[in-house]
Amino acid sequence: MSEGERLTELAKRRGFYFPSSSAYGGAAGFWTYGPQGAALKSNIEDAWRDRYVVKEGHQEISAPDVMPEPVFEASGHLDGFDDMIVECGECGATHRADHLVEDNTDIEEAESLPNEEVMDLIAEHGIECPSCHTSLADQPVDNFNLMFETNIGPGSSSPGYLRPETAQGIFVEFPQLSEYARNQLPFGVAQIGKAYRNEISPRKSLVRVREFTQAELEHFIDPEENEPPLAEVEDVVLPLYSVADQQAEDGGQRELTVREAVDDGVVESEWVAYYLGVSKEWYERIGVDMDRFRYRQHLAGERAHYASDCWDAESEVDGDWIEITGFAYRGDYDLSKHADHSGEDYTVFKQYDEPITVERATVDPDMSYLGPEFGGSAGAVADALEALAERNPDAFDDDEVTVEVDGESHTVPVEQTNFSVDEVTENGEHIRPHVIEPSFGVGRIIYTVLAHAYETDEVDGEERTYLDLPPEQAPTTVGVFPLMDKDGMAELATDIAGDLRAAGLSVTYDDSGAIGRRYRRQDEVGTPYCVTVDYESLEDGGEAQRASESASGDEPRAGTVTVRERDTTEQKRLPIDGLAETLEQLSTGDRTFDDL
Ligand code: AMP
Repeated sequence: MSEGERLTELAKRRGFYFPSSSAYGGAAGFWTYGPQGAALKSNIEDAWRDRYVVKEGHQEISAPDVMPEPVFEASGHLDGFDDMIVECGECGATHRADHLVEDNTDIEEAESLPNEEVMDLIAEHGIECPSCHTSLADQPVDNFNLMFETNIGPGSSSPGYLRPETAQGIFVEFPQLSEYARNQLPFGVAQIGKAYRNEISPRKSLVRVREFTQAELEHFIDPEENEPPLAEVEDVVLPLYSVADQQAEDGGQRELTVREAVDDGVVESEWVAYYLGVSKEWYERIGVDMDRFRYRQHLAGERAHYASDCWDAESEVDGDWIEITGFAYRGDYDLSKHADHSGEDYTVFKQYDEPITVERATVDPDMSYLGPEFGGSAGAVADALEALAERNPDAFDDDEVTVEVDGESHTVPVEQTNFSVDEVTENGEHIRPHVIEPSFGVGRIIYTVLAHAYETDEVDGEERTYLDLPPEQAPTTVGVFPLMDKDGMAELATDIAGDLRAAGLSVTYDDSGAIGRRYRRQDEVGTPYCVTVDYESLEDGGEAQRASESASGDEPRAGTVTVRERDTTEQKRLPIDGLAETLEQLSTGDRTFDDL
């Protein structure tokens, strides 16, 4: 079994994730997170929120999944969010053409090639339909838009789309969000939410799906003035696989500190370098194996034309590198697009330290002249004159001035425009912020964390599988077991489980089957600690205490329990009194098991 297959088997058996709607045959690319997976997902999202919202001092929003068509006309998704599709002439199965080329040749980024070239490569390499093994030579390679379309309300007059990324829900609301940030740059807005892409060939369980969760941050800055707090991460070592190294014969990834990467010009944008540093530490925190992790720079063909510096965080699973996060310096592309399409103001007013005096050209056209002269176009002519005065005041030097409205030229005597140049005092200017975007795919991160946590060893002569998840991420922090369901052990264990839950720990209570099997179950879902109530717990006062305590409620418990650590399987006897605090300290790393 490959690493991916082993993981998918464990994920289904233990309730991390499994294919959705299988009672009706299912639909490829949709997965349900089971109880363990949902808990892991929410722990990872909380850790993301903690680092990228709380610690950075950013704001978080929650925008709708469905957005109207003009949003995606402006963003470019309607026209350009396509993948290359090829359909088998024999069985009718559809495939992602660039992936077929990548899987069957040495070419790594076929996505950046023109469709005709991909079609030629399919023929040249004799690539067959993966479903029925008929040759795909001469089958056309077309563009397929990945957005799911719907209708907003009855009828089809108001098309909408399930958002293909959460980012647009932030960009489109920029004017409002900027107000909440008191129009002060820099500020960041984050969102964790669903994104939908009608992928041509979903594959590798959570890696390529049609509905997934993204955690995205849009950090708006004044490019002239704002700098990142680079000193905070300057010593973090980044495993960088730059374009130059990707293209060199013997190139491999290089380890550079954030500071070295910036000083050597390997990472062009200090802002991008800052987030690469922050994210390296965050990935380590949530359990990504740093020996199976790198930052890869986008090759020229992969990069969107507006994005100047792009890096992907990639993790290795099953020998393949998977993009888990994209980091991009997007300039003012997104805000300009929404400003152009909506006519709204997507700028921030930047106050000068001191007011300045400038010359300003204005017009005040005489409408009693323009009206009879240009009829219905008079208003548009006046607007065009105003725009021209601002753009090119020299055009008003002659006796007449000409403007274009809807492709038609209109000539106006300058004296009818009331053109003048005056000195005005300005307190500031409108600027369009630039954006740095780290865009995380939560499902791929979960897949990575689980794959990297998957361990096997031998315990008591038997092979054991366990997940060495960091306690902060583990779906459950503590498993509580009565050794047997008799003589008051179950009652005491239930009480202890209740106490631990009341203290805020995530607890599973399990009384079914042999104790060894119960440990194995918790090992397989990565529970870092298990507490067992046994005869000794009763003998050393636990039961008597429990009986008297149910009346009073708040006295400390006497007695001890066994606490077992997952990775070493080592066991220690610890007092029930203070158990919640001890387990809390163990899971936050404030104490180690050896210290106990
Ligand atoms: P992109 O906007 O394509 O750069 O995607 C941003 C992030 O979303 C990627 O780094 C992935 O982690 C995740 N992602 C993109 N497409 C998918 C997909 N089809 N399935 C799962 N995750 C995805």
